[in-house]
Order: sequence, then C-alpha cells, then structure tokens
Amino acid sequence: MTSYDAIVLGAGAAGMMCAAVAGQRGRRVVLLDHADAVGKKILISGGGRCNFTNIHTAPDRFLSANPHFAKSALARYTPADFIALVERHGIAYHEKTLGQLFCDGSAKQIVAMLLEEVAKAGVDVRTGQPINDVTHADGRFTVRFGDQYFTAPALVIATGGPSIPKMGATGFAYDLARQFGLKVVEPRPALVPLTLGGDDVLFRDLSGVATPVEARAGKAAFREAALFTHKGLSGPAILQISSYWRHGEPVTIDFLPGAPQGWLLEAKRARPRATLASVLALPDRLAQTLADRLALAGELGAQTDRKLADAEARLSRWPFHPNGTEGFAKAEVTVGGISTANLSSQTMVAKSMPGLYAVGEAVDVTGWLGGYNFQWAWASGYAAGQAL
Ligand SMILES: Cc1cc2nc3c(=O)[nH]c(=O)nc-3n(C[C@H](O)[C@H](O)[C@H](O)COP(=O)(O)OP(=O)(O)OC[C@H]3O[C@@H](n4cnc5c(N)ncnc54)[C@H](O)[C@@H]3O)c2cc1C
Repeated sequence: MTSYDAIVLGAGAAGMMCAAVAGQRGRRVVLLDHADAVGKKILISGGGRCNFTNIHTAPDRFLSANPHFAKSALARYTPADFIALVERHGIAYHEKTLGQLFCDGSAKQIVAMLLEEVAKAGVDVRTGQPINDVTHADGRFTVRFGDQYFTAPALVIATGGPSIPKMGATGFAYDLARQFGLKVVEPRPALVPLTLGGDDVLFRDLSGVATPVEARAGKAAFREAALFTHKGLSGPAILQISSYWRHGEPVTIDFLPGAPQGWLLEAKRARPRATLASVLALPDRLAQTLADRLALAGELGAQTDRKLADAEARLSRWPFHPNGTEGFAKAEVTVGGISTANLSSQTMVAKSMPGLYAVGEAVDVTGWLGGYNFQWAWASGYAAGQAL
C-alpha cells in the first residue's frame, strides 16, 4: 500500500494538468491510467496537430445543465495562461480559423510538454493496468491498480467520457461518481455526424459535397461548412449543431446564408432565361438536387413570383430530419456527465464527499468545436490542482 496526498485517475488532458499543478504545489501525487500511454486523445486531436485552445473562449460556448458552472474555472485559467505554457516550452503554433490555435508541428509536442510538467512536479505516473477497485474509508480513498494498492485523502476523477471507445474511453467516471452518490446527467454523443433516413436518404447521393451553410437546431445556429456523407450530414456546422440536437427534432439548413431577401425574384428579373440550378451559388450536384426537390425545372422567367418566393424561403430553412447520430464511436465529445449540481465550481470538489474531485470531459460541461474542450480540460484540471 503506497500513500500519497492525491490520486488522479486518468492521464488525459485534465488529469495531467491537475497532477502537474498539484505536484508543483508540493503535493505527492500518483497519476493512474489503464492505457499503455498517456494523452492518447490529445495525440489524435485536431488531425494530429491538437487544437489546444480557442482565443474566443467564453462561458456561452459551453453546454451544461448549469450554464454558469464553468465560469469560475474558465476565468482563473484562460487561453492566455495555456498559450504562455506552450510558449515556455518553445512550441510553435498558429491560428487556423475562428480563434482556433493549433501546433505548427504535432500534437506529440503537447503530450511531451505535459509529461515534462508532470515530471517536474515529481508526479508518479503509472500506466497499463486496470483500475479494479476504488473504496473510501476513514477519510481515505484506496485504489487497486493491477496488483498494487494506492491510498490518499483525495481522489480526482479525470477519466473522460465514453466518446471513441477504441482509444480507451470508458464510462468509468460515471460508475465511480454514482458509487459515491453523485448524479450523472444523461450522456449523449456530441460533435458527431448526423444520420439521415426516410425521405432525406436521397441526399446521401451527394456524399463528398461540402458548402458553407447556417445550421440550426432549437435556438442554436452555426455558420460554417456542412458536408454530405454516405450516411447523412457532417462538417463543422453539423458537428456543432449535433451537440444541441435532440432526437425527433429537425435540423434546418440555410443553404445561402447572407443572401439578401428577394434575391431569387431579383435573379428572375436579371436572368429570366436562367434555371434555378444555374443561379444557385452552390456546388453543381447540390444545386441540381435542390432544384429537383423544389420541382423547379425550366426557366426562372416561366415561374410565378409566389413559387420563387416559396423556393427562396425553403432554401433558407431546409428541414432535415436526422434519424440519429454516428454515436460514441465517432463523437469527439460527450454532452452530459457528472452533474455540476454536486460539484464546487471553484475547486471541482464533490460537495457531499470531501476529497473527491471530478474534472474534464467526465463533468457535465461540453465545449463547442474548435479548442474549447481542451480549454475546459486545462481550466478544470487547474482548478482542482490548486485545491488539492
Ligand atoms: C478525434 C478527436 C479529436 C479531438 N480534437 C480536439 C481538438 O482539436 N480540440 C479540443 O479542444 N478537443 C478535441 N477533442 C476533445 C478532447 O480530446 C477531449 O475533450 C479531452 O481529451 C478531454 O480531456 P479529459 O482529460 O477529460 O479526457 P481524456 O483526454 O479522454 O483522458 C481520459 C483518460 O482516462 C483514461 N481512462 C478512461 N477510462 C479509464 C479507466 N476505466 N481506467 C483508467 N483510466 C481510464 C483514458 O485512457 C485517458 O487517458 C477531440 C476528441 C476526439 C475524439
């Protein structure tokens, strides 16, 4: 039985940050992971270049049953703090788009940086064994990791969410939370492609076609690219809206965001001999499919104004009825998780269980696409690391 000040379960983004911060504050920390190597999701993130933060980070870019919960941690560890760390390690980076910062080189640099921080802090890192048992008695947690036992007065759940199980992701965080009496907000796959069935199936023929759109579900709207796939819809606009979409609801697409009202009547006046497909500023196959579905073959000059006004309205609010998502196997993150109602927003400690903490994706806080999820992992890991 080896004794520590804190045991951190999960050597991903949040767990490594938390362990490094606590260790640098003089705490004796052990960091345990069942995978054979640390930070596997970091390595595959951002197409191998890790979109490690977003300079436009703000609480309204996160989903949670309590939209205020993330505010405190995000304010105390900001993108500027992580950028300063990246710069101290001499890692070159660039802004790709919309405030998204990526490594110029490789995501491996971020993992190497975190490992260096963890080593500098004297953290004991152990990998490649299952966590068999976690118990709590007399104010101490005991973890059986393979054949070894570790004990500490503090335990941090940093084992992430169930998205991409083939990377070693599990729902372990939720089981552990429930074991200690914490509630779990129903987990759903998020930042995930949507699948189409029924009447929408015809759009699958457009597989590979991409175009800028505005995608909407409920009150949420994202203006980015959408991509038709052989299963349905993907691309950044769709991944973003998937986090807000609920089964049974439509996703509406504006195929011509920014087009002025009345543009189609104007096109009829300016180019009466043109067809609808030819005036749509969209990829040819998509323009033709939409024109066919609107039953608007022939010249614009031959169409009534009413019919064209209806077509314009439909093109700006085209309803799709997804029959599902591609699931946790393809989801970048998980919406839902350990309920924030049970946690302190200052320290991430469980209100009903002193010494128990939860950080990162395991918690019911989910960011938009574009570096927000790592920023939450760093910020929540830092908040707990400061409190341990
Ligand atoms: C393909 C892909 C690309 C992504 N790209 C980006 C991006 O560019 N930018 C961004 O901000 N976000 C991105 N994300 C999301 C981001 O990776 C996660 O939000 C982030 O890794 C969450 O950090 P975490 O530390 O909470 O969990 P993780 O990083 O998932 O770490 C959890 C750790 O716990 C371990 N673990 C799990 N179960 C157990 C268990 N039962 N026992 C022991 N250990 C366990 C795992 O092995 C893992 O090391 C991407 C996700 C995916 C899947």
